[in-house]
Amino acid sequence: MDVRKKTDHCRFCGQGAVKLIYPPTNNTGSLKAGEFSCTNCGFGMHGPIVKCDLCGMIYSNENLSQERISTYYEVSQDPLYFAEQEARRKTFEIYLSKLEKIYPERGKLLDVGTNTGLFVKIARDRGWNARGLEPNRWAVEFALKNYQIDLINKPFASGVFPENSFDVITMWDVIEHFADPVAELKKVCRYLKSGGVLAFSTVDPESPLARFMGSKWPWYMEMHRVFLSRRTADSYLQRIGFSKVIFRPHWRRLSLGYLASRLKAINKKLAAVAQGAIKTFGLPRLIVPYYANDLYDCYAFKD
Ligand SMILES: [Zn+2]
Repeated sequence: MDVRKKTDHCRFCGQGAVKLIYPPTNNTGSLKAGEFSCTNCGFGMHGPIVKCDLCGMIYSNENLSQERISTYYEVSQDPLYFAEQEARRKTFEIYLSKLEKIYPERGKLLDVGTNTGLFVKIARDRGWNARGLEPNRWAVEFALKNYQIDLINKPFASGVFPENSFDVITMWDVIEHFADPVAELKKVCRYLKSGGVLAFSTVDPESPLARFMGSKWPWYMEMHRVFLSRRTADSYLQRIGFSKVIFRPHWRRLSLGYLASRLKAINKKLAAVAQGAIKTFGLPRLIVPYYANDLYDCYAFKD
């Protein structure tokens, strides 16, 4: 099915004109369920990427509804996700420690798009009253079996919770997957208590690495629909009802083996050399800190 859409006006601000910045590389304009698993290899495969000259929003200009995206996430399975489980645990511990510096009171927390619920588990272990929302049934079953955590098997929608329910809402590497992140941020704002915090990480299309790589930037991929620079995120968050917005550099933990495999998206020869060296020294499972220049963390306080 052809899902491409031709339009000249920004579908977020409704007023700016959109300009094609990168032509599509996915050729077919169609999507399969496998392209929506979280560690898939479709790096650099994307639809037409456009940018609004007014609000600065950058997005894949394909008319793909959130219902359809959610359907893909409901059925896709992602066994590769576990290869990095230990690194992910350490990453989430960092996320939580940074959040606790910004919001020290441990209250009610909702993790949106929590996948297997690992972040919810870590937050509960540290005294938070944490819940997780996850549309994928397989991930929800995993959380119940392995962490005894009952995730809410629903997409992020209106009416799932009463308004003003949570002190903190987290969205780690989630926001770029939504067809309309502005609508999702409005929902977050309604679900948060006054003074509550939204914490999220996302990819940064105006980072030096993204600008350098252009159309080949690995995060331009079909499962990523919309790309918010810091400036665009700040402007939309303020308009939606968040009074204070803080940005932080993004650090995570990765295994050396995974890091080398990700190098493929940038340079295949370099990746082969790195993978060979890491294997020779028996270090593929070594977990190292990684500063991602092309991602950022954001904390936004509701008025
Ligand atoms: Zn716009």
